[in-house]
Amino acid sequence: MDELNKSGMSLSYVPKPLDLPILTIEQNASSTMNVEQEEKEKEEDFIKNNYVKRTLLNESALPPITWSNWYKEVNWPQATLLCLEPFIALYGLFTTCFVWQTAVFTFLWYFLTGFGITAGYHRLFAHRAYEATLPLRYILLILGAGAVQGSAQWWSRGHRAHHRYTDTDLDPYNAHKGIFYSHIGWLLFKSRRKPGVADVTDLIHDSSVQWQHQNYISLAFLMSFVLPTIICGFGWNDYRGGYFFAGVLRLVFVHHSTFCVNSLAHYLGNAPFDDRHTPRDHFITALITLGEGYHNFHHEFPSDYRNALKWFQYDPTKLLIKFFKKIHLASNLKEFPHNEIQKGRYSMTCKALDKFGQTITWPKQNSQLPIITFEEYQELSKKNDGRALILIAGFIHDVSHFIDSHPGGRAIIKNYIGKDATVPFYGGIHDHNTAAHNILAMMKVAVCKYGGEVEYIKRKLGHVQTPTPIFA
Ligand SMILES: [Zn+2]
Ligand SMILES: [Zn+2]
Repeated sequence: MDELNKSGMSLSYVPKPLDLPILTIEQNASSTMNVEQEEKEKEEDFIKNNYVKRTLLNESALPPITWSNWYKEVNWPQATLLCLEPFIALYGLFTTCFVWQTAVFTFLWYFLTGFGITAGYHRLFAHRAYEATLPLRYILLILGAGAVQGSAQWWSRGHRAHHRYTDTDLDPYNAHKGIFYSHIGWLLFKSRRKPGVADVTDLIHDSSVQWQHQNYISLAFLMSFVLPTIICGFGWNDYRGGYFFAGVLRLVFVHHSTFCVNSLAHYLGNAPFDDRHTPRDHFITALITLGEGYHNFHHEFPSDYRNALKWFQYDPTKLLIKFFKKIHLASNLKEFPHNEIQKGRYSMTCKALDKFGQTITWPKQNSQLPIITFEEYQELSKKNDGRALILIAGFIHDVSHFIDSHPGGRAIIKNYIGKDATVPFYGGIHDHNTAAHNILAMMKVAVCKYGGEVEYIKRKLGHVQTPTPIFA
């Protein structure tokens, strides 16, 4: 009854069960024990064959960070850079004159170094979503160094682990540890665990990646601070603006833009392709991250060079890669087949429908209904207990609460109480619509043995079995 109240269905259509003996099934204690044992064995087997579970169980993590040990657990070089840069940028903002050429250059440098991460580190090196010529590889590696996020090899190793072990403790920026942790916390403190195994052999054998890996510190310093200062200084005599705006302030934005892919893109938005993990699609995240915000799609199809599929979705990195192809700097842009992408959409639509279906109260399963004979049905109908029983299509329905709401009138129903109303219901008098069938199904109280009146009469006349017609 409560279920029906929740769904908003009128209580008046729900009949009381027929007054018949109820069968009880006794629980077998020994079989329960077997089930428990089986479950335990299954769990042990799962752990044995599951790399994440096995590793987490066998390899101990560093002790948790507390108020007494936190200063020993801070990753001081990274923490100093990340915590100081916003303050240096703020100081620069309040003490440096505005020069429009520097403002334009800062904007441009933000996009260039940002693309070094999105088109370079992420889509090219971590995911091999396309192939790039050697000059383009070097350009992206140099620009990426300007975003000061470690070498492409280090970055890709962590990112491949993020994809392989998403939402587990082997994911370096596990979103289940909170938005602060996945955004920046994982960089401020020493990792409690080594990220899960991820193969980067291809990058180890890539001479351009190795060159950047070995010269990373000097490249990062040059691209992030020295070059912007020199360009603005030599270009329009604004060394100070070049350092504070194109250097430091730009770096703050590039850093937090990338960090948002690990934090915001795992919290904000919807999951049109798969909702078993945290990655989500959202326009705002895309706007902040140069198009990396369609993260649900990206985690489902990581080696696709696109993050956004539709033309109106914001993904400038995708457009840049397309442009690289046009000028023959990139080739073999990988796309997952449309059919496979549609399967993701389809399964999520089914899931949503299923959820919707759970908010609806459905009729009782036929197997839950008692089976009575046609004679018993007639007997029950004659009882003066306030019930109005009608047989339709082999099912007995208690229509007593519906009889006054029947759009066709009360009299016609009354006429068929205790009789078989299959023919009039299915078009003999009125061909009822789907809603009528649904409402009727809610009123089922029993199954009539052998079907209905016709079968009953046939049996009475000696036709035990329906004759099988012979075909020539
Ligand atoms: Zn992610
Ligand atoms: Zn990725």
